[in-house]
This record gives sequence, structure tokens and C-alpha cells, in this order.
Amino acid sequence: MRYFPLFLDLKGRRVVVVGGGAVAARKVELLAGTGATLVIVAPAVTPALAARIEAGEARHAARAFEPADLEGARLAIAATDSPFTNRAVAIAAEARGILVNVVDDAALSSGIVPAIVDRSPLLVAVSSEGTAPALARLVRERIEIAIDESFGRLARFTALWRQRIKAALPDVSARRRFYDWLLRGPVAGLVRRARDAEASAQVARALDEGLTAPAGSVTLVGAGPGDPGLLTLNALRALQSADVVLHDRLVSPEVLALARRDADLITVGKGGSGHSVRQDEIHDLMVEHAHRGRRVVRLKGGDPFVFGRGGEELQHLVANGIDFEVVPGITAALACGAYAGIPLTHRDHSGAVRFVTAHCRESLERTDWQGLARGEETLAVYMGVATLGVLAGELIRHGRPASTPIAFIENGSRPEQRVLTGTLGEAVALAAAHGLKAPALLVVGAVASLAHDLHWFGAEPVSGAPAAKTDAARSAA
Ligand code: SAH
Repeated sequence: MRYFPLFLDLKGRRVVVVGGGAVAARKVELLAGTGATLVIVAPAVTPALAARIEAGEARHAARAFEPADLEGARLAIAATDSPFTNRAVAIAAEARGILVNVVDDAALSSGIVPAIVDRSPLLVAVSSEGTAPALARLVRERIEIAIDESFGRLARFTALWRQRIKAALPDVSARRRFYDWLLRGPVAGLVRRARDAEASAQVARALDEGLTAPAGSVTLVGAGPGDPGLLTLNALRALQSADVVLHDRLVSPEVLALARRDADLITVGKGGSGHSVRQDEIHDLMVEHAHRGRRVVRLKGGDPFVFGRGGEELQHLVANGIDFEVVPGITAALACGAYAGIPLTHRDHSGAVRFVTAHCRESLERTDWQGLARGEETLAVYMGVATLGVLAGELIRHGRPASTPIAFIENGSRPEQRVLTGTLGEAVALAAAHGLKAPALLVVGAVASLAHDLHWFGAEPVSGAPAAKTDAARSAA
């Protein structure tokens, strides 16, 4: 280690920033929060800097740098695009024993400004000792994902309890165990969920009555349609801290690969079409693992609250007194629309969209065909390929023109994605001719035809079915 890491206290100290461009502005932005007395030396400044000067956050010496500017300063920052000026600042600072940083020039600097992740009061600084700034930025990005915004809240919450915890637990190792429980268990979860009062009550109880074994919990997570890039950061964090992952078959291997290496991955339920089998067994598994104190991730394709039975699973958890969180996911309709180049609404074509399920007889029997067939709104049909005939036939029978554009999106957002376009009347023939397989989503409405102009992902959309009349088309006639 060549550099000594240090966090400088600059409150009330004179800090001189030489330069008035975008680079200087970024440094001033960082410095503004420290309470330093800021002086900007530059003939001209950016509008952002001008606004700060106007607001009294910094003084402005509107001229070229002079060595005397550094008198009484604790830190100097040279951020001009003139190597000559930057060097002059470095020499003047060195002569006065003042810390200096010349942006992007470690040789002229007495210290390096690290890449930071700011979760104040928690601050992570990353440096490659000036050898590979791009790598330091990459590391910072990784940390940014791992250390989410809630760590700042957690740090502030912990600070409020610090004295009381110290007084109640004078023994160092007992205190360490307590913090372990506080930071890894349900208290941190409550703070993350903006429930500080409940979190405080738990800490108070634990201090009074001693620690109990951490209770398990369930995080209901939407895994999106397949492309792991469509996971949310919260989904990624949940996967990376899971002890057990109970996942649907529909969840892609690329997403499962992001789970914590030691996590047990358990496949539950059916994917694609049809009802999940043995829903009660899934309920039992969640409860059983949570009762053993484990962090359970219940991972579902798309979004857990869109045709995912996520609501039922949570009701079961509530009935069993198990703590839970929910992380939404990108539902198939949104992902398939985006990845097929089909905007679900469009000012020229459709002002509304309905998410419809047509997986089995039951759901078809409950469908309000009249309502669905009326008007021009887009339908995003979460479908069973087997029930397509009934669906298309009923829509036409209830008044949607057989000429209405449609698109099937099979394996949306995955490398093997296929998009088939045609009309409602030829839906069945189109699906049969191309051997459409689950999982597939059907988009009904004028927007479907936009796929031909707006496609950008995977194979080009294929249009048209063989000429043969389909049952659906015949029943429409
Ligand atoms: N909760 C899920 C939907 C579960 S129902 C979500 O929000 O997306 C399962 C249906 O979703 C499938 O039959 C299919 O119609 C649709 N589906 C899910 N993933 C899909 C994908 N990658 N491509 C196309 N359709 C998909």
C-alpha cells in the first residue's frame, strides 16, 4: 500500500479550487457538503458554479491564479485545463506545506481523490493508487449496487442507539453479537422498509429481554421475463443474500445464476401454461424454511402480483405470522412489448391496455368477452397456447374485427425470442404454422403491427399464416 487513506475534516477551513469549468464544478459540488470555506479562482465559471457563488456557498476571485491565493488554505485543488497553471498551483502549495490535488495528475498531487459511494454517514472510498481509475470506477459501481441507499438510513438509525447499546452491553463480544443481530436481521429489514418505529421497538425489546434467534423471512421477488438485465437492484440484493430460493420453472437459468452461491435452489410449481401444481406445497415450503430462521426468496417469473398468485402466497405468510417483503418485477406484457417493438399504448392507435389471462377453461369462462372485444384498447393476453382457439373465436364473436392486428411474442426478452404478426382471424393458423410454444404472450390491437417498424431485438418479426381458413375466422364469418 503506497497511499495512506484518510478522511479530511474541512469544516471552516479555507479550500481553494483553481479552475471554473465542469471538472472544477464537480469538485466544488463534493466540497460543498463538508462545510469548508470555499474560494474559486478562475477568470470565468460555469453557470452551476455561478449559482453556488450567487448563493454564498463559495467566494469567487475572478482572475488568474496567484500563489498568494493559497495563504491560510488547508487544501488546494487544481482543476484547470492548463498544465502550466496546474503546475503553478502544485508548486505554490508545496512551498507552503498545503495539501494539493491536481486533477488526474498523481505525480503533482499530495493525495488522490478516491471514487466514492456516498451513503452518508457511511462513506466508501475506492482507489487504485492512480494506476487504473477506470477499474476503481468499476469497483465503485459494484459497491453502489451492493450497498444500497438504505445503508445510510441504517447507519443513522444505529447511531441513535449506540450509547444505549454500549451502556446495556459493556462486554465487547456481547455487543458484537448484538450488532450482528441488529444489522443482519429483521431490524435492518424494518429500517429498509421505512418502519423505524417498529425497528426501535425491536431493539428496545432485545436490550430488555435479550436476543432471540433471528426469525426467518420471505422476500417475494419478481424475476422478470428472462433477461437478467431486467432484474431490479432490490431483486439482485435479495438473491445475493438468500439462504433458500423457491423458484418457478419459468425463471431463466441466467437469473438463477445470480443467487448466492450457497443458497439452496428449489424448483416449485409449473412454468409456462396451466395452474401451478400443488400451490399448498409451495405455501408449506415457504413457512417451513422461514420457521427454521432462513432468508427465503420466493422467485417468480415476471411480476409476482400479475397472474402470479403472489397475493395468495402472502396471505398464507400473514396467517402464519411470517415477515415478508415484496420486490416487483417486469411483467411479461411490458417486457414483450418493449422487446418486440410494440408500444402497448400509442396516441394514434390505443389509449388503454388490459392485461388478460387466458390460461385455462376456468379463466376463459370467467372472462367478460363483451368488455374485452369492445373498443380499440390493446389486450396483452397471458395465454396458454392450447386455449388460443377459444380466445380468438370469442373475441371475434363479440365484435373485435377479424382484421385486428395481433402479435405473438414467444420467449420474450430471451435470445431465442420469436415474434409472429398477423390478424386476429388468422391467429390459430399462425400459431400452428409456426409451432408456437409457451411461454408466449399475445398482443391484440393496432399497436401490434408496429413491430415491423420498431423491432430491435433478436430475430425479425415473421408475418402471415397460410391461406387456409381457421376455425376462428370461420366462426367470425
Ligand atoms: N407473473 C408473470 C406471469 C405468469 S403467467 C408475469 O408477470 O409475467 C405465465 C404467462 O406469462 C405465460 O403463459 C406467458 O403468457 C407469459 N410469459 C411469461 N414470461 C414470458 C416470456 N418471457 N415471453 C412471453 N410470455 C411470457
